[in-house]
Parts: sequence; C-alpha cells; structure tokens
Amino acid sequence: MRKAIIEKIKNEIESLNGEVNITELGVVSSVGDGVAVVDGLNTAQMMEMVIFSPDAGVLLQDLLNSDKALYGLVLNLEEDSVKIMILGNTVSVYEGMRVYRTNKLLSVSVSEEMLGRVVDPLGVVIDGKGKVTGKKDMLIERVAYGVMDRSSVNEPIHTGIKAIDSMIPIGRGQRELIIGDRQTGKTTVAIDTIINQKYEPKEKRPLCIYVAIGQKRSKTASLVAKLKEAGAMEYTIVVATSASDPSPLLFLAPFTGVAIGEYFMEQGKDVLVVFDDLSKHANAYRQMSLLLRRPPGREAYPGDIFYLHSRLLERSAKLSKELGGGSITALPIIETQEGDVSAYIPTNVISITDGQIFLETDLFNKGIRPALNVGISVSRVGSAAQTKAMKKVAGKIRLELAQFRELEAFMQFASDLDEDTRIRLESGRRYVELLKQPQNNPMPFYKQVVSIYAANNGMYKNVPVASVRQIEDEFLAFIERDRNDIYEDIESGRELFDEVLEKLNQAIEDFKNTLNVDNKF
Ligand code: ATP
Ligand code: MG
Repeated sequence: MRKAIIEKIKNEIESLNGEVNITELGVVSSVGDGVAVVDGLNTAQMMEMVIFSPDAGVLLQDLLNSDKALYGLVLNLEEDSVKIMILGNTVSVYEGMRVYRTNKLLSVSVSEEMLGRVVDPLGVVIDGKGKVTGKKDMLIERVAYGVMDRSSVNEPIHTGIKAIDSMIPIGRGQRELIIGDRQTGKTTVAIDTIINQKYEPKEKRPLCIYVAIGQKRSKTASLVAKLKEAGAMEYTIVVATSASDPSPLLFLAPFTGVAIGEYFMEQGKDVLVVFDDLSKHANAYRQMSLLLRRPPGREAYPGDIFYLHSRLLERSAKLSKELGGGSITALPIIETQEGDVSAYIPTNVISITDGQIFLETDLFNKGIRPALNVGISVSRVGSAAQTKAMKKVAGKIRLELAQFRELEAFMQFASDLDEDTRIRLESGRRYVELLKQPQNNPMPFYKQVVSIYAANNGMYKNVPVASVRQIEDEFLAFIERDRNDIYEDIESGRELFDEVLEKLNQAIEDFKNTLNVDNKF
C-alpha cells in the first residue's frame, strides 16, 4: 500500500516535467511619491512591467485584459525588496496591495495605424479618435544595433531651411542636436523639418515621430494642429507627455519614440525622431532617481545620466543593406541657460551627437531668423550625404559668410573701408538676408539650389538688402511658372549638369531683364 502511494507520487512528479507556472506575487510594503516598495518579487527584472491588483479575488488574466489595469515599472532591485515606479494614479496604491509580475519587459505595441495619431509613452492613443491595434511589441529599452549592422550615412534628410541644408547638411541616420536658449526657435526648426518631408517623393519620404517631453498640453495641441494644416500629420506620430505627468512617463517618452521608430526602420523605412527636449528629460530622470533614492552626482543629476542619453541616441542608426537599409535620424533638442553650452547636460549631449545647430537669442532679436549661428554650428557626417547639386552651390556661400563675419567684427573699428572690403561686406549682407526664412515655410531642396546658385552668380548685386527676399520670391515664382523643367532636372538628377547650368544661367539673365534692375533701384 505504502509502496503504491510512493509510486504514485513519483509518477506525479515525473509528469510535471518542469512546466509549472507559478505567477510571482508581491505585496506593497510602503508607498509614497509615486514609488512603491514591494516585498516578495525576488526574481523581478529591471524594466519589467508589474501590475497592481485592486483586490485579492481578481485573477491576473482578467487584469491583463482590462483597460484600466494599473501598471508599475521595476527600477530598483534591492536586497530584500524592489522599488517600483507607479505608471499612473498613485492614490489608488495602498500598503498591503498585491502586485503581480507580468514577465514582460516594458514594451509598446506598434502598427502603421499609429500614423497621424497622438499617443502616450505606453502607446495608448490619447487623441480621442478611437483605438489602434498594435501589430508588434517593441521593447522600450533595448541594445542598439552593432557596428556590423550599420552602414555609413549616405542619403540626405532635408530640413527645408536654407542655412541648414546648404551649410550644416544632415544625413539619414545622423544625430544632430538643436541647442539654444528658450524661445530661440528650436521647436520651429524641428517642426519645419517634419513639414518639409512632404516635398519628398512618397516612397522615399521619412516617417516622422515628434516626442514632446514635459511640454504644455496647449503647445502640443497647437503643434499637432499646425502639422495637420500643413498636411504633415499623415506621416507623423506624436508621443506626448505634459509637465503634469508623473516623471517616469517623461523618462519613458523618448525611448518609446525610438522604439516606434525601430518598428519602421526594421521594415527598411527611413524615420525622423525629434526629442523636444532632452533638458526636461534629464530633469525628469533626476526627479525619478531622487525619489528612488539613488545617489545624486554633479548638479544633482544621477551618475548614469550620460549613459541614459547615449543609450537613447545610439539607437539612431543607418542599417546595412542586408538589414534593409532603414534608418532613424534623431534631432534631440537641448535648452541652454544664457547660452551656456558648457553646463553638464549640454556638454553630455554635444559629445554624443554628430553635430549641433546653435540658435542664439541675440541673432533672434536682431531679426535673423532662424537664429542660426553658422560659425559654430557643425554637421560632422552630413556632408557625405549632401546632394551633388547642393554641394556645388554651398561652398561659396560658406566662404562668403565666413569672410563676412571676420570683416563685420573689424568694421566696428574702421570707418573708411577700401573698395574690396566694402564689396565683400555688401555681398555678405545679402547672403545673410537670403538665409532668413519665415517659420513653417520650408523650401524644397531644388528651390534652395536655384536660389543659392542665383545669389552666387550676382543676382542681388544691385539689389538693396531689404529687397533681396522679395526678388528671390519673384525669381523662384518665375522659374516655377516659365522654366519648371529646371526644378525637375535638379530634383530627378540631383546634380547640376552643364546643360542644366546653361538653362539656369539663361533663366537668370532673362529674369534680370524683366526686372531691369539697374533702372528699378
Ligand atoms: P521654447 O524654449 O519655449 O521651447 P523654442 O526655442 O522651441 O522655445 P519656438 O517655440 O520654436 O522656440 O519659437 C519661439 C518663437 O519664435 C515663436 O513664437 C515662433 O513663432 C517664433 N519663431 C521661430 N522661428 C521663427 C522664424 N523663422 N521666423 C519668425 N518667427 C519665428
Ligand atoms: Mg520648444
């Protein structure tokens, strides 16, 4: 009899074959400031999602299927407890509450349906226009592609801003920082870049993801309206967080942005991601780390803030042909205080990116908008990707402006100038005027080439500085109306061949005659 029982137990044990699935359960031991300390989740992983169960009778399965489940994120693994950031309403978490492991690292469910929508960092749509069904779960934190999976940047992404596309070209897969004080037009540069993508042929058009980190809700709403009006929302996804959201959501937002981007990049598509802005992101991470009682470092930021941002920006990539050749171009934004670029977070992000676009309050107030300081703005890899046509015309403008800056500094001391200096200054002034551009008015790349070529060939020589932009408008309209084949040539061939140049020179000549510049001014 005894033997039979033992035999039976033995059989039972053997039949288990290790497939027992015990859901791990923890209990909240204390809660405050959006952080729950939980006992019992000994094997929980970093960045794992956990789920808070409102009462003991509810099954995990029901919770997972419910819309209203309250999630938490495991962030500190300590000796006998874990610290969990509550992703939602903290008030409903109480001591003694049950917490289930989900065995899932935090991820966002992505699909094409997200295009044109506004989502939160967990991928839930928040624009009130109905659900989207996700196709693939993308990990929010994951290791970036390695060296062998990448290829070098070789295709341009056009911002539609003359000063940037000509002198600080950006390539697909590059990380270009937009940096400047508050209210210098940083967001505008990023938004104009998104709007400009509508001029790209559809099959090559990058999808855009705008990540708002701790922005005012009203600002994000007007931005979405602007994109819609410009017809840019159909290829754009907005990941929105506001200043009143809990800090872990702000911390997650840019990671969600790239995770969504990776979904498209893996299909061989090009993606543009804007992080607006990483200063606020650093502040959110600092707040979160202090609440988790991690030790503070320089400027009270946690010691791993550099690692945080490099982990994020390394995920921007140009994939090799074997992997489909997709790319993620990143435009992180940083806000400086009083133009101080040597503060902790700005220097960090400058050293992680492939170049930076400096915007300055002084220039902005002088009316030079976009307030780009072309002297210190750089793009370290983009010139390899610049189109040949643009390369051809951009050399001269760069040189002229550099000489102009030099002379301008001199001019403050010397009153009478020699002829040569005067001509250089006059020419420089006209280039500065030409590079001014109203907001939300990006110019397709082929128009830029024509405009700069005309300037290089003396179009504005006898034109008063104040009229430069008007003449430019008229000239471009003239080309569009009468010589549209020039635009087509540049757009399709993307190169300035001799015959195109001939046509262009002729057009400049003809246009000048219609103007009769010398008499008019
Ligand atoms: P914040 O620090 O508040 O985020 P920001 O640096 O992102 O500001 P924007 O919001 O882009 O700056 O622009 C600031 C103001 O300057 C806005 O009112 C915008 O309309 C104006 N502005 C930006 N670019 C231009 C431009 N090229 N021409 C004219 N006005 C512009
Ligand atoms: Mg802004």
